[in-house]
Amino acid sequence: MQFTEFGLNEQLLEAISYMGFEKATPIQDQAIPHIMQGADLIACAQTGTGKTAAYILPILNKIAGNNDHLTRALVIVPTRELALQIDQQFNGFGYFTDISSIPVYGGGDGGEWEQERKSLTTGADVIVATPGKLIAHLAMGYVKFDDLEYLVLDEADRMLDIGFHDDIMKIITYLPKKRQTLMFSATMAPEIRKMASKILSKPAEVSLEIAKPPEGVLQAVYLAFDEQKTPLINSLIADKPECKSILIFCSTKKKVAEISRTLKGNNYSVAGISSDLKQSEREEVLVKFRARQIRVLVATDVMSRGMDIKDINLVINYDAPQDAEDYVHRVGRTARAETTGIALTLVNRDDMYKLKKIEGLIEKEIIKIPLPAELGIGPEWDPRAQRPNKRHGGFHQKKRKR
Ligand code: AMP
Repeated sequence: MQFTEFGLNEQLLEAISYMGFEKATPIQDQAIPHIMQGADLIACAQTGTGKTAAYILPILNKIAGNNDHLTRALVIVPTRELALQIDQQFNGFGYFTDISSIPVYGGGDGGEWEQERKSLTTGADVIVATPGKLIAHLAMGYVKFDDLEYLVLDEADRMLDIGFHDDIMKIITYLPKKRQTLMFSATMAPEIRKMASKILSKPAEVSLEIAKPPEGVLQAVYLAFDEQKTPLINSLIADKPECKSILIFCSTKKKVAEISRTLKGNNYSVAGISSDLKQSEREEVLVKFRARQIRVLVATDVMSRGMDIKDINLVINYDAPQDAEDYVHRVGRTARAETTGIALTLVNRDDMYKLKKIEGLIEKEIIKIPLPAELGIGPEWDPRAQRPNKRHGGFHQKKRKR
């Protein structure tokens, strides 16, 4: 659809045209009319679909021009990066309006607290917040949500993964009961539906076809204990001289350093990339990798989303990705333009539940390959694997600072 067909005001249409958006994306086509009509909404859409504008535009359309700068919209998001991005989009789309928005997120040095307090009390029209930090402000008693009309829960599935369920339910106790609530999630797992049934009222529902990895990718899983993972990577790379461009993702900076060191020791052309590198250094590494001067790139999960690298022959997930949709993004980096690619994922016992989520999202079982004989036997596949409980040690559900 054309943006002019939604009934948005002139200032927003002007901003949209400045941004160079010509047509609405499918999620915008589906979601904007429901939101404009005032319905609660549950939307299944992944990052990259234009989901943010799908709720920002109708909200801005409604609140622009009030001129009283009372807080009318609250967007709750899982991470600080997302809070910043969404705040920027409110500013971008709201450029020709009088709307102000503020991001509120944890992990700062405390210096931002006073600025946030001021905005929360003198009324930013829109607040984009991570749950923990918002609760800290709410507990001080000065935040007033009496005039709030819109609540958005963005990336709801990620928020539940991080363990924000109780925080979200607590925040909701501070909000007016009469409001329009919009929930966006990349997946519609049963716990998402359960939360939706508590928070939303007779929601409209829209859903985008979930992206699937390209057909040409050979996907496989190795079930491995942690100590088997690095030797396995070595053996996988040694076995595949035809793979000229290999990308390895792992969950920590320490692992990036460790794997890079081991592979270098075996004379492979390797570079590691993590937040330890300066931006200019990261870019230099990426240029060399794209030019195939570096054969193996080892990167942290955090780096993975922002990196624009395609045409990889082999993607190895040293650790199973936290989010099933990250898996799809990563696998999508291989097998472009009629080539075939390989995506291998190493899964330890604690991560088996993540693999189940991935298989659920792509609606396909991924083949599990036995480890090479010299590495011994790996853990047994548990089709009923659950997220490890913190009381039983192992994986912990502590809220991660992202
Ligand atoms: P999101 O899924 O909200 O993270 O959006 C992904 C990207 O698509 C963002 O960079 C948006 O600026 C961009 N985008 C959103 N809507 C449109 C559109 N209608 N046309 C072109 N790009 C868009």
